[in-house]
Amino acid sequence: MTGRAVLVTGASRGIGRAIATAFAEGGDRVAIHHRDSAALAEQLRDSLPGDGHVVVRADLAAPDEVRAMVDGAADRLGGLHVLVNNAGVFTGHDILETDYEQWQRQWRRTVDTNLLGPANACWCAVRHLREAGGGRIINVSSRGAFRGEPGAPAYGASKAGLNALGQSLAVALAPYGIAVATVAPGFVETDMTNEHLKAERGAQIRAQSPFGRVARPEEIAGAVHWLASPAAEWASGTVVDLNGASYLRT
Ligand code: NAD
Repeated sequence: MTGRAVLVTGASRGIGRAIATAFAEGGDRVAIHHRDSAALAEQLRDSLPGDGHVVVRADLAAPDEVRAMVDGAADRLGGLHVLVNNAGVFTGHDILETDYEQWQRQWRRTVDTNLLGPANACWCAVRHLREAGGGRIINVSSRGAFRGEPGAPAYGASKAGLNALGQSLAVALAPYGIAVATVAPGFVETDMTNEHLKAERGAQIRAQSPFGRVARPEEIAGAVHWLASPAAEWASGTVVDLNGASYLRT
């Protein structure tokens, strides 16, 4: 299927940029969401194959902005068939090193962005997907959803919540032809992981996979693109663990 209207959050860079590119290369029209990277988003819009791509802006932690983003994307693309909740924030905060106020701030920012933002985007998008006769929602979670993130507990918890959100909505929305799936990558080479992947720590991280490397954004994008395809309806409710055989060695 081509010519669908697809909204990708956090699409100006990293995994989101690769996802937007995969949909455009497949013949779809993409709404490229950003928060504060208009120039990058516009540059991507102008470089994507095909016509009709648009740029939309929102702080995902602001519910009114999320609604305006989804409705604006649907309005400008002439409907909506696919929502990809990709944007997210990683906040490291050691429970023993963080004071109580910082702890509150980090949790609120992380949960507002990684869980409430996607939940609100789903609420708004579902109205448009139903109008289109069905559609797809794909959420970008993390390996941290399965095992937690010791130095970033709000991140792991927010992503575990995202997994459960996808499973809940997969059941609720199947009768309307809407399939909902989740991808849970481990380390991917992006701005989010730049620091982690340096020097000795980087070597340790790469060694976790028997391939001796971390993922490229395009490898996550390929899975998202397939999960959003008509062939993947039966994958609804799944959480796809994209980790290059990491964590399997005894
Ligand atoms: P990234 O930092 O390059 O991209 C994250 C995007 O989210 C950015 O464009 C940022 O502006 C946007 N964003 C953050 N907070 C926002 C907010 N409040 N409102 C609007 N936009 C906001 O990182 P990435 O690696 O491309 O991450 C994409 C997704 O993949 C995230 O959800 C991340 O948690 C997830 N993920 C990444 C990795 C990895 O190793 N890079 C691993 C697992 C999961």
